[in-house]
Amino acid sequence: MDSIGKQVLNALKGEINEIDYQRYIKQLNFDENESKSNLAIYRAPNALIANWVRTKFADKIAHLFEIKTNVKPTVSILIQSTTPATNQNPIVPQNIERPSGSLLNPSYTFQNFVVGDSNNFAFIAAKSVSEKPGVVYNPLFIYGGVGLGKTHLMQSVGNVMLSQGKTVIYTSVEQFLNDFTRHLSNRTMDRFKDKYRKCDLLLIDDIQFLSNKNQIQEEFFHTFDALRNENKQIIITSDKPPKKIGGLEERLKSRFESGLVADIQPPELETKIEIIKKKCEINRVKLDREVINYVATIIENNTREIEGILSKLNAYSQLMGVDITIEFARNVLKEQLAEKRSNITIDLIMDIVAKELNIKPSEIRSKSRNSNIVYARRIAIYLSRSLTPNSMPQLAQYFGMKDHTAVSHTMKKIQELMKNDEDFRMKVEELSNKVSIATPE
Ligand code: ADP
Ligand code: MG
Repeated sequence: MDSIGKQVLNALKGEINEIDYQRYIKQLNFDENESKSNLAIYRAPNALIANWVRTKFADKIAHLFEIKTNVKPTVSILIQSTTPATNQNPIVPQNIERPSGSLLNPSYTFQNFVVGDSNNFAFIAAKSVSEKPGVVYNPLFIYGGVGLGKTHLMQSVGNVMLSQGKTVIYTSVEQFLNDFTRHLSNRTMDRFKDKYRKCDLLLIDDIQFLSNKNQIQEEFFHTFDALRNENKQIIITSDKPPKKIGGLEERLKSRFESGLVADIQPPELETKIEIIKKKCEINRVKLDREVINYVATIIENNTREIEGILSKLNAYSQLMGVDITIEFARNVLKEQLAEKRSNITIDLIMDIVAKELNIKPSEIRSKSRNSNIVYARRIAIYLSRSLTPNSMPQLAQYFGMKDHTAVSHTMKKIQELMKNDEDFRMKVEELSNKVSIATPE
């Protein structure tokens, strides 16, 4: 015989529409071991389904229990698996193929690259190189943090030249090394040399991995010189400037510096927003402005997160058959942020808010009515309340406020601002994100 939990779900089936049943209720498993007469526990496959069931069906479930057992239990919907949701979306429209071997990603083009203050210089340099390869800047050395668009930019040059029928090689240090070893052991070094020294454009991604690999540094040095003597263009990327790459021969460092060294900085909020719009366009995901702004505040500097987030939103929205509203986005991405939030303290929040707004932590805790300080204090209180487990009285004590009603009053004020003042809300979300990411080791 079915467990009581199962019987209740079967009864529920008759009361709700078939789609809801298939999407949500059917996904639940009754936890017989943990449940008690006054506590019914179900497990859902992910947070979204859990939330949905909690808000839409928990009351009905409790009521059906009462009919069957005469006891109305608390219904608790917990999450079953801990596998990250990103691995569970097979239905993502991905028209982007990752480059494999020497293939370029066709969507990595100048048109698809969003230019802002953070990457303007590298963009112009790459563009000039694509117009006059081998002439203006050789090599072009682009460096910057993970996910800031280095590979995208270098491949943009590659795609331009490829479309002109030129020979383009895109490679990583590892691939270069493997190729070298293979040709060496097959005694086909001539072919290796032909390949790398006769191309029109050589793109070497993440050159920092050359560090401490002496034999391949030697080989790369000769490849480099051969290409440059023929005025063939070389573009190199790295996570740091040539000087800072440890375990790298001096002669290579000086060659890397001999053309143009261009950095890419983390994008400003506006640039992030534009990049998201661009990615939506490419991946055919429809998001309204509010959601785009929200996503922009969630991602830190690594632009690579964007595609993951878009896929996730899109997959969930298809799964649930609903539009991607701001509430929906918050709900889906909450889990993602929650994971980052386990170690947050008020001190950490104070440090970050103070630093970002250029105010001393002691000022935030003071009684000053100066508008900048009030602004910072509001944000700090709001974040402390929403990101840490501290109670209102604890917050009152920390911020030197009279009592918990003072905190509650401030929270109301902030929620009002969050609703009516988009700039304020974005600032809060941006800082909230910074705090989440800065969680100490
Ligand atoms: P990096 O090589 O610096 O680690 P990538 O070039 O792989 O970074 O970029 C990561 C992702 O972010 C890619 O999908 C890329 O298209 C996107 N991206 C980064 N910067 C921009 C930008 N300015 N405009 C459009 N897309 C960008
Ligand atoms: Mg890269």
